[in-house]
Amino acid sequence: MGLVHWPVVDRLNKQVATNITNLDIHDIARAGRVFGVERYYLIHPMREQQMFVHRVLDHWRTGRGAQFNPMRKTALTDVYTADTLSVALKEWNELCGAEALCIATSARDEMENPILSFKTLRARLQEQPGQPLFLIFGTGFGLHKDVYKAVHGVLEPIRGASSEDYRHLSVRSAVSICLDRLLGTW
Ligand code: SAM
Repeated sequence: MGLVHWPVVDRLNKQVATNITNLDIHDIARAGRVFGVERYYLIHPMREQQMFVHRVLDHWRTGRGAQFNPMRKTALTDVYTADTLSVALKEWNELCGAEALCIATSARDEMENPILSFKTLRARLQEQPGQPLFLIFGTGFGLHKDVYKAVHGVLEPIRGASSEDYRHLSVRSAVSICLDRLLGTW
């Protein structure tokens, strides 16, 4: 899966890049590890932002953090950085030896894309276990429209039970819910 920091939008729907946060590195890696996600890419074109990720990873993988909390070392094993979504995808496709099904997520109804229900995608993954998947999450106020143009489909938004249909989850919550709905053993 990939967490996109560029291109995303701000509250005025302008294209921006967002900063990578420590919380997103750790919490999403841990969720990925629980559900057997093979690679988690933090996607940001700026070198300084990627260096921040690698400083955090080095601390927990080989530095004092590795002795302090070996479980965190395990959780961070499969975290990678990439300059762009297409670079991450190319790398993932090459590793899989096949084109991954590339699916974006959104809290909103993204009308121009084919929408996949959780049920449909879960069934497809179960019926075709060899089918590689690349699941994309946004930051800021969500993924830029260029990302939606580049994917095969969009997952239906997670809906809860609020009377006003409030859907705006933190990306960390959204990742955990999506992974459980798609890959959980319930
Ligand atoms: N800084 C913010 C945070 O984490 O609180 C980032 C918000 S960002 C818009 C949240 C991302 O999580 C979205 O781009 C989408 O990938 C996912 N997301 C949030 N709510 C969702 C929902 N109801 N259904 C599906 N995906 C959702």
